[in-house]
Amino acid sequence: MPMNQGQFVISMDLELYWGLRDICPRSHYLKHFAVERETIKKVLGLFERGGIHATWATVGLMFFESKEQMLRGIPAKLPVYQDANLSPYPHLASGEVGADEQTDSSHYGLSLIKRIEETPYQRVSTHTFSHYYCLEAGQDSAEFQADLRAAVRAAKRQGIQLESIVFPRNQVNPDYLKLLWPEGIRAYRGNPEHWLYKRGYSTGDSLLRRALRLMDTYLNLSGFHSYTLAEPQLGEPINLPASHFLRSYSRKLALLEPLRLRRILRGMTHAARNNQVYHLWCHPYNLVDEQGRNLKLLEEILAHYKKLQSLYGMESRNMEELSDQILGAAPIREPQFRMSPVVRTGELNA
Ligand SMILES: [Zn+2]
Repeated sequence: MPMNQGQFVISMDLELYWGLRDICPRSHYLKHFAVERETIKKVLGLFERGGIHATWATVGLMFFESKEQMLRGIPAKLPVYQDANLSPYPHLASGEVGADEQTDSSHYGLSLIKRIEETPYQRVSTHTFSHYYCLEAGQDSAEFQADLRAAVRAAKRQGIQLESIVFPRNQVNPDYLKLLWPEGIRAYRGNPEHWLYKRGYSTGDSLLRRALRLMDTYLNLSGFHSYTLAEPQLGEPINLPASHFLRSYSRKLALLEPLRLRRILRGMTHAARNNQVYHLWCHPYNLVDEQGRNLKLLEEILAHYKKLQSLYGMESRNMEELSDQILGAAPIREPQFRMSPVVRTGELNA
């Protein structure tokens, strides 16, 4: 589907400890990422000042005021993974989760969610309720559907309508896509069509795959992954594939650091010149570091976007706005622009 100008999309996977629980001890998380929440506020400030529209895909367990409410919000059907460590529910039952956000800022995120909602052109989206892994062995579509419904319910309680999804570890299960639209989810972040990325990420990934993905952060091994949009299909969610993961600064690979930025800027320029989408993503904790190198890199990316905006007319869009645009909605004018997919289906039928 041809576009008149390039589109710069940013999506952030907001998960606090829920997204790292199965791969990182909590003590490590608290030691290294305690400033994640402050980083999120800084990023929101950068986005507001830079006119950047972004989607924040947020784990549903973070939407609660108290543990009592969290326990009441969990789905009746829980995922049964072959690898039991993938499920967060034993962790939730273990007593490691505190009473509320004030006493446990690694599991609760309602104040952050509200802050995002209040910032112009930011949208809260879902990263599933429980950081659900759609391609891991054992779980099934009914368990995923129950998880998704719990996420929609938790957001609705806070007056937030979820309209897009980012699948944890980018595990897109094609059989589950038909379950999105009935819950009001009209867009998802897919993966680049390259063998390194197309099945997402898993703790079982080979060392070779991980090493090549790491090198791809610095050297253009797999391509820019910018793209033109596919025509929307009625009732099917819109795929807005990721182009590039904004990986954290690495002390071990400090010599390659200039290449990390160059790789992204070149991809953005390629998209702007060719009227394509460039979709950058990361977790807020990828932007945490004591010297502020990651935030500085983000600032340089945003400054480059400004250049591309004036040179080529590139636009900043969150996933919701871009899917609206694809579906033929009116141009985005208001920060809190919303449209129910149910209404839209009717319009397309008319
Ligand atoms: Zn995640």
